[in-house]
Amino acid sequence: MTERCDVLVTHGCVLTLDGARTIYADGAVAIQGRDIVAVGRSRDVAARFAPTRTIDAGGAIVHPGFVEGHYHTTMHLTRAAITDDPSRPAVGGAAGATQRAIYSEWTNFIDDADEHASASLALLEMAKAGYTCFTEPGTAFEPDIVAKAAQALGVRGSVADPYLWDRAEGMQMATEIDRAPCDLGRALALMGGELKRNADPDALVRGHIGVYGSGSASVELIRAAKDMAERNNVAFTQHQSFMPEAAAREKAAYGKSPLVHFAELGLLGPNVALTHMNALDDDEIEVVAASGTKIVWHPGNFMFYGLGARCAQRMPELHAKGVSIALGNDIAKLWAFGDLPFLAYLIARNHGHFVSAESVLEMATLGGARALGWQDIIGSLEPGKRADLVIRKAELAEAVPGVSPAFEAVLVQRAKGVDTVICDGKVIVAGGRSTRVDEGAILAQARASARRLMAKTGLSTGAAWPVVN
Ligand SMILES: [Zn+2]
Repeated sequence: MTERCDVLVTHGCVLTLDGARTIYADGAVAIQGRDIVAVGRSRDVAARFAPTRTIDAGGAIVHPGFVEGHYHTTMHLTRAAITDDPSRPAVGGAAGATQRAIYSEWTNFIDDADEHASASLALLEMAKAGYTCFTEPGTAFEPDIVAKAAQALGVRGSVADPYLWDRAEGMQMATEIDRAPCDLGRALALMGGELKRNADPDALVRGHIGVYGSGSASVELIRAAKDMAERNNVAFTQHQSFMPEAAAREKAAYGKSPLVHFAELGLLGPNVALTHMNALDDDEIEVVAASGTKIVWHPGNFMFYGLGARCAQRMPELHAKGVSIALGNDIAKLWAFGDLPFLAYLIARNHGHFVSAESVLEMATLGGARALGWQDIIGSLEPGKRADLVIRKAELAEAVPGVSPAFEAVLVQRAKGVDTVICDGKVIVAGGRSTRVDEGAILAQARASARRLMAKTGLSTGAAWPVVN
């Protein structure tokens, strides 16, 4: 007696990421509606189901969709549009402008059309690189614009209220965003506004609680955010200990390491996901591990800002202690979506550690799911979970020899190997192209928005060579 299913993916090398981390060398995934209904050997699953549609993976690697742990979709178009040279302000930028002031300047000129253009391009790139879920940490002026862009592309996500902060002395940027004054009353009034999305259990885009953090939030604001997140069974996120200076400022203000202070106040825990966590003291490693707090690791930014010369790389040690680590792009400044496991692997080696391909794949999938508290919904290929998965290419030089699937998928192939992406049971990318949107229109809209913002702000790439038009 066969059962019906909508989609049957057969003959894949299926990395399930289940409890035993089972890999089916010739495996299948059966999908009904939004959900995975069976995972196993191709011959067993094919015998059980009569599918409406069969996708033959042809021996290619199949794995859970990647989960972006932290992405500022509204800032995506700064990539290659404003200077990357830390020693020179962009042409037209305020004299002596720092990198951060330049980002604030750009942010202040963003309108709804720009926010949509930036999010659409970021999410299109993510989908094509095998991402099926993203976390926007609370820096979209209109979270609904980001949600609509995600729904158009068919990508799952979580959004938060815009720029919740109240400690101007803790962070320069908190005083620089015109549309988001640094104010406790404002932050508390806005907090939780995006949780309305969670009333629909099938919503593709949900809401969580995020404050900006990194010294820009009072203990009162952090406590309110963490409590609201706990009451509503959602994640609480904030930036934390990005730069040594930021961590030192907080340490001076609290009279102890910031995370030790937070632990003593009960502000850490399994529903808390802290982003960056570069500048950490030894006693902070212990309290993070003991509390079940999640971390979002940003290997691209760690290198971009030269932090390897200033901070020990603690993620391998935290991972070894059982801390759940997700990966985040923050703003994909020059690297591409899909590069993070590769960068994380190389940073670990550069600092004298070894983190396996399997570990960085787990961070990019289950780690991201856990940071959102969604580990029972996504992050692995198991019956009962949502059908969010990637089918790679089989006929690819980088798919040879085909004996080490995790290594080949996330270290060697990266985004290049992605062929088909299924999210919430729907094929959203086929043959490397979005099935849902006009890619050309998104590119044109993004190009126009970036040029508009460059003209409005007077910011430039600061590139060294002259361009003749
Ligand atoms: Zn960030």
